[in-house]
Amino acid sequence: MINETHDPNLRSWVESANDPNTDFPIQNLPFCMFFRNNVERPRESIGAVIGDSLIDVEQIIKLGLLDEFFPEADRVSYEPYFHFASLNYLAGMLCANRIKLRDGLIYLLREGADNETIAAVRPNLTSLADVTFKLPAFIRDYTDFYCSIYHATNVGSMFRPDNPLMPNYKYVPIGYHGRASSIVVSGTDIKRPYGQNRSDAEKPPVFIPAKNLDYEMELGFFVGRGNELGTPIPIGEVEEHIFGVCLVNDWSARDIQAWEYQPLGPFLAKNFATTISPYVVTMEALAPFRTPAFERDADDPQPLDYLNDPQNQKFGGLDINLEVYIQTEKMRNEKIEPHRLSRSNTKDLYWTIGQMLTHHASNGCNLQTGDLMATGTVSGKEKDERGCLLERTWRGTEPLELPSGEQRRFLEDGDEIIMKGFCEREGFRRIGLGECRGRILPAE
Ligand code: MN
Repeated sequence: MINETHDPNLRSWVESANDPNTDFPIQNLPFCMFFRNNVERPRESIGAVIGDSLIDVEQIIKLGLLDEFFPEADRVSYEPYFHFASLNYLAGMLCANRIKLRDGLIYLLREGADNETIAAVRPNLTSLADVTFKLPAFIRDYTDFYCSIYHATNVGSMFRPDNPLMPNYKYVPIGYHGRASSIVVSGTDIKRPYGQNRSDAEKPPVFIPAKNLDYEMELGFFVGRGNELGTPIPIGEVEEHIFGVCLVNDWSARDIQAWEYQPLGPFLAKNFATTISPYVVTMEALAPFRTPAFERDADDPQPLDYLNDPQNQKFGGLDINLEVYIQTEKMRNEKIEPHRLSRSNTKDLYWTIGQMLTHHASNGCNLQTGDLMATGTVSGKEKDERGCLLERTWRGTEPLELPSGEQRRFLEDGDEIIMKGFCEREGFRRIGLGECRGRILPAE
């Protein structure tokens, strides 16, 4: 899987892509959906991000600039209906063909491209500052897992100190069906939801704006080609069905959740909004950052056969650093930089994303191109690796001190949560997932 497109010495004639701190060097090239600001008739198009700009992939293909690498015959998608109208079109391709597209884009953008090529490509570059991002895919279904054993243990121990993990945890990648319609792209404001609160066990519940509003730092991944109803996805083939990853903030109202979650799990505490980053970092770009699956304790059970595959055990994990920052209204007014609340890593997930997908389809459930899956809150062992406020402030009992002198148990109106993700490994170029932002507006 690792090839010359991952060569750390590869540079681009787009100078900003060579900045060692950029999330988007030529080795990354995440895809997005965008339209240009300040044009008369904005048109949505597929973009590939390079440095501080993006290239209009649809235009580049129409101009014939990719014909040599990515011939028309290979542009067949499982989702022809979408064509260039969404990333579902690219997601629905055979991985082998998407790799040809990647190779072609890198050929056009690399340092050393001839002047004629550069002259033809340059007019199709737009600064990221001059575009508006749309949701990257048409997401028909969204499923959220619960795959960080540290998160599950922490949350479990708040409610069941003696027995934090349920007996199914080490056998089943636990998840619930989320809601696709309320997924929004980074930068969208989030209105504080109303809901039933029963914090006083002596009285009936009241319908008020949520008090214990929280974020959850998660990794999202998009289904590439789907599977037919009744036909599971074998673990050995699952990587063929994963398109790429994004950042996910699974906003959660803990007071609503505490009252409603039994016996069927999360509902209105979660489905009022989920924010995702606009960029899909492809599995091709992530190849250098694959790791072994989570190393289980000696007395833990091995995954059941349908979730156990030697390749997946060796390379199914992901080494992605995740960071959460907060900037309150006071911090913004006083020009105080966002403050980091946590950093964690997807290496700490108990299940690989391949195991999650295979499990999801193991009963014959049909996954569709563009479906969004999320890992669940990614937490690590340490306190500053806890990926949500519920854990970080231990249900609000250990408030966090902010550089503005403020305290936080849960989110206040005006707070902005900023999530970041990046991969670093000796011998490879750093790549990033960009940012996922959202600000809390007061309830109406
Ligand atoms: Mn979640």
